[in-house]
Amino acid sequence: MNKLERIVEHDAGARAVRRCEELGCEPYSDMRGGLFRPYLGAAHKAAMATLRGWMHDAGMSVRTDPAGTVIGRYEGAEANAPALLIGSHIDSVWNGGFYDGALGVMLGVECVAAFASRGIRLPFALEVVAFGDEEGSRFPLSMLGSRAMAGKAVGDVSQMRDRTGATLHEAMRGAGLDVGRMGEARRNRQDILAYLEAHIEQGPVLEHADAPLAAVSAIAGIQRFYVRVQGQAGHAGTVPLSMRRDALAAACEMVLGIEALARAHVDDFVATVGKIEAHPGAVNVIPGSASLSVEIRSADAQCLERAFLQVKDLVGGIAGRRHVGWEVQDHQTFAPAPCDGRLVDLLRSGIRAEGMPEHVLVSGAGHDAMMMTDWVPTAMLFLRSPGGISHHPDESVIVADVQAAFAVMVNFITRLPEVLDISARQGTVV
Ligand SMILES: [Zn+2]
Repeated sequence: MNKLERIVEHDAGARAVRRCEELGCEPYSDMRGGLFRPYLGAAHKAAMATLRGWMHDAGMSVRTDPAGTVIGRYEGAEANAPALLIGSHIDSVWNGGFYDGALGVMLGVECVAAFASRGIRLPFALEVVAFGDEEGSRFPLSMLGSRAMAGKAVGDVSQMRDRTGATLHEAMRGAGLDVGRMGEARRNRQDILAYLEAHIEQGPVLEHADAPLAAVSAIAGIQRFYVRVQGQAGHAGTVPLSMRRDALAAACEMVLGIEALARAHVDDFVATVGKIEAHPGAVNVIPGSASLSVEIRSADAQCLERAFLQVKDLVGGIAGRRHVGWEVQDHQTFAPAPCDGRLVDLLRSGIRAEGMPEHVLVSGAGHDAMMMTDWVPTAMLFLRSPGGISHHPDESVIVADVQAAFAVMVNFITRLPEVLDISARQGTVV
């Protein structure tokens, strides 16, 4: 494999960055002065067309699957060999950054270009997959492309509507797709070797650690619910403090209590109250009821469950002391998605080979990789986010980090047969 290990494409990182920037404005954005590329909008369709050209130029045969995922395939030494999928998404949030998602796709294109330009055929195929709906910024369901590819049930979503009232059925028809055939995007498990996703960290941890890259060990699971607090409304001037059942004051104590609980378990989970409401919401009325959203994230399923019970205990204790009622509503659980240990180690050794500090992080944010972990061996590579900024026009990357990510990915691809059971044939030069 020495021939493969010598691949150094000095401008691969810079080109990947340049392409993300090129896709950052019209016609690849549906807003003026910023980036908004929702699923199957005009900007997404324009980006799909340009990406198809880049994939083709890199040596791939290109198709679009029934969920609107652009797939470029570079055959292995033997036709129809199982594929390593290298993917991420090309949709964006409103006024988003250039690199969230798109960078992982562009890096995939660079990897294929590096092998194809040398005529190197691997013992497996490479496929670059560009999902179109990771963010859920148009319809009220996210990760449609990766869900469909991994064969995850989504129910009948044809009539869900975007903000303008257009249905998914209509949006897909406008892109030459048929919502009734979305299930056909499902891939056969035996045709897929593994899934690799490079993505910006979208947080400040790597920058603080002065580390350009990290292997992701798992994507955190989520417990998401509302706590409704029932007190007693009353006149703000006539009811003595000692006789009040103030729902908002109780809710505030709960917010700080949840924060303190999470702080005490710094490495196990994070908890956030992102939304709080009080009723009736008047300056001269004691709040009679309040509600707060609670979100707990952890890579450890047991920790997640324990944290949920601890939050419930805490809320119950505060409510009891303050003589208010409470209940948990709209409780949703998303299980943690662990990456494949062998592939995590492969990324780590690639990072080490670049002379960089070896970091392993849990992804607190959801990614398309979440849909893959229980289906195929999955790996994620994080790139440092300057300032920890993402989902914002100021989102950025450091070109040298992207170049290093490219090198780690090429190393990963080259050495994949060492850790996955691929028929032992070496890559051959055609
Ligand atoms: Zn993303």
